[in-house]
Amino acid sequence: MSKPDWKNFEPVLIPDIPDLDQIKNYEKNGGYSALKSVFTDNDKWPDSKSVINEVKEANIRGRGGAGFNAGLKWSFMPPADGGPRYLACNGDESEPGTFKDRKIFEYNPHIFIEGALIAAYAMEITTIYVYIRGEYKSYIDMMEEAIQDAYDAGYIGKDILGSGRDIEFYVHSGAGAYICGEETSMLESLEGKRGYPRVKPPFPAQKGLWGRPTTINNIETLAHVPAVINRGAEWFKGVGAKNHPGPVLYGISGHVNRPGVYELPSGVPVLDLIHDVAQGIKGGKELKAVIPGGSSTPVLRADQLDGITMDSDSLRTVGTMMGTAGMVVMDEDTDMVDVLWRIAHFYHHESCGQCTPCREGTGWLEKILLKIKNGEGEVKDLDLLLDLTTQMEGRTICALADAAAWPVRHTINRFRDEFEARCKKSVHALA
Ligand code: NAD
Ligand code: SF4
Repeated sequence: MSKPDWKNFEPVLIPDIPDLDQIKNYEKNGGYSALKSVFTDNDKWPDSKSVINEVKEANIRGRGGAGFNAGLKWSFMPPADGGPRYLACNGDESEPGTFKDRKIFEYNPHIFIEGALIAAYAMEITTIYVYIRGEYKSYIDMMEEAIQDAYDAGYIGKDILGSGRDIEFYVHSGAGAYICGEETSMLESLEGKRGYPRVKPPFPAQKGLWGRPTTINNIETLAHVPAVINRGAEWFKGVGAKNHPGPVLYGISGHVNRPGVYELPSGVPVLDLIHDVAQGIKGGKELKAVIPGGSSTPVLRADQLDGITMDSDSLRTVGTMMGTAGMVVMDEDTDMVDVLWRIAHFYHHESCGQCTPCREGTGWLEKILLKIKNGEGEVKDLDLLLDLTTQMEGRTICALADAAAWPVRHTINRFRDEFEARCKKSVHALA
């Protein structure tokens, strides 16, 4: 595959335009033209389905981590029956290493609002909620303001642009629980209940908020929609990697000289992101490892990165995933046992406790890793940990147990020497 020309890429979601968060500036720069087209140009968009088809064709892979085709998800909504239908926009972004959606809230909230309204139009949705993690208090306030401005401009509310469509838009604040970013748990939370994930199926399109058809999309996913409408699915598919196309907000953190959120095409080589975009490892140290897309995506050793690009096909060849494109870069001095213990501690703390393999399993992962970290573990504990991960994976209501198990399995397998070196010699090994 040819490398995308990322150095000359013009950002779409977070362009360098001052005060783009102000509705007037957003409009001056072409903002809300996609919405106007969809809501009023009946020749171009004869019905809701035509909008869904364009978005499906663009293959916007969900940017919340799962990478599901957004348009395909929209097409799962049953036909409208006159009752309420919902869009729940997921701005919880609690996955460790993930901090990209807040750039949209901060710099370009209207591109997300416009995308959400087009999604609502396409799925004949009547009410939109944007669920934002409680820690993002300032962004919650900014979103409230931006939504009010869009109401005042006639883009939200009754009979939008004379289309006969009514859509209401509300901000909902999370209260600090990671699990409320899981889509069905978020629905419970929006309903005012404790954030317990629901068993799927039924999927939310069939039975979502208050039992009604609901679609859940990530903030960045929705923010890509206006450009797909304005420039067409072919344009989007032509940006970056073939099977995971479009611009991506890469969140790069850890031991790099210039951490931050960068909008570039998908498919940028991992090593370019580290050495060029983020300007290399701090203090001139060597690269040791990278978590490519949030804490649940399997870690890669530096010697696995040659020729690997940030897209699902390439990352699969080295046994990992794109996730949220929240890359955590680690230098040669990083203690992988400590890293893994911290990740395990996080998932144990955040498990909602409904499922035994997750409630108990995450606790045991953390406990055994702490023992190893403290120099009290034995080599056989590593195999116990690996066995535990197989007992957890695929046996629970939601993906949190998998997300807790994968880093343990892959970090141990990829840095086994380092873990063994931290273990006491077992009685068996001494004999
Ligand atoms: P999933 O693959 O189960 O589902 C993805 C989406 O497709 C969901 O909306 C689901 O409802 C829909 N879907 C899948 N199959 C369907 C079907 N047959 N019919 C109808 N709809 C269907 O993934 P998930 O559990 O929603 O998400 C897990 C991902 O979330 C992980 O990959 C992780 O990276 C990510 N994550 C992100 C954050 C964050 O902060 N952004 C936090 C935690 C986890
Ligand atoms: Fe709760 Fe864990 Fe079960 Fe998910 S897997 S529902 S977080 S106990």
